[in-house]
Amino acid sequence: MERTPGSAPRRYLDHNATSPLLPVVAALAADGGAAGGGFGNPSSTHQEGREAKRLLDEAREGVLGTLGARSEDFDLVFHSGATEGINAVTRGFAASRPGAAFAHSATDHSAALAQRGPLEARGHRVLPLPVNARGDLDPDRAAAAIRELAPRPVLLHWTWVNNETGVVFPLEDALAVKEATGATIHVDAVQSVGRIEGWRPLPDGVDACTWSGHKFGAFKGTGLTLVRKGLGLPPLVSGGGQQGGLRAGTENVLGAAGLAAALAHVAERHDPKAQREAKDLLVREIKAAAGARAAVAGEGAGRTSAQTVCLVLDGERSDIVSIAFDLAGMAVGTGSACLSGELRPSHVLKAMGFGDEAARSAVRLSFSPYVDRREMEGHLPPILGVLRRFVT
Ligand code: PLP
Repeated sequence: MERTPGSAPRRYLDHNATSPLLPVVAALAADGGAAGGGFGNPSSTHQEGREAKRLLDEAREGVLGTLGARSEDFDLVFHSGATEGINAVTRGFAASRPGAAFAHSATDHSAALAQRGPLEARGHRVLPLPVNARGDLDPDRAAAAIRELAPRPVLLHWTWVNNETGVVFPLEDALAVKEATGATIHVDAVQSVGRIEGWRPLPDGVDACTWSGHKFGAFKGTGLTLVRKGLGLPPLVSGGGQQGGLRAGTENVLGAAGLAAALAHVAERHDPKAQREAKDLLVREIKAAAGARAAVAGEGAGRTSAQTVCLVLDGERSDIVSIAFDLAGMAVGTGSACLSGELRPSHVLKAMGFGDEAARSAVRLSFSPYVDRREMEGHLPPILGVLRRFVT
């Protein structure tokens, strides 16, 4: 919580949008990175360059270690974040496989949905997969739809944890679809770190997986993708041949070191049981306060994250509700984007069958990996105070 002189403490409840920089990451940038050896160009052969290369190599090893992936199995590409990772895998797959198709969930992030135009313009098929009212994706139905695309090679984009609702698509289901169809699986793991039990190690069978640093306390504009060796994806960014030719451009050494440090920190401190207890308490209290006037989207899904609560206040506008939270000292997210004054319904809630009005009414509360019951007890009075103004 932050406090400026004379003001109430701010409560940051929007970790799915972005997360505060962890002190262990911020410390890396002290002295312009010189202290940690991150200031040189890792391609330079002088001492400063060699130190930067050492830091980069250590970051690579650290990330692989924490994520439980072996360098014999995966190439690790550091990049600018998940939007780039998703573009690189999707377009690389399409460019290297004539006639390839792309399957994704209708509830995926816009970084995945936006692939449709460029892919279809090049003659590729794009298959959006439906979800049910709870936000779950049925793996058998997905496999049946993907089989219809044969003999095209298929890339299945699989969002592990939904950013708006916290609904989890289990990786076992993705691997079952792979088994049944031969599809290549790219997991969007952006909202997994510090949000679900078992966010690591990465299970066998996943072909590619993308993470974004700013969702777990590392620097914004940093991310990484693991690509199974031999998948043969051409680089999205070409140039000087850095990162073994997988992504050109001088490496963001401190960014990579920040990813490794933040992942290790979350791995050590995340307590999914305490987090779940805190979320359950919040959901119980919301229901007691709001009754039928508020729904929690995705609540009945097979699995959900332990830190996201997507509140649907049918009849209210999410921008107004989020301003009320803001004025009461709390930052919360909304699923609906406001473009040129027009409030667009959340595509995630629409895909789950909510009407336009309800899909314009959702606010999302998302908590840190370290939230526990005690912290939540402190958040409850102001959260319920705002809620009551809309439901009574
Ligand atoms: N995928 C999911 C599920 C996300 O939540 C986000 C960001 O909100 C992204 C992809 C895009 O990540 P980035 O901000 O690193 O480009």
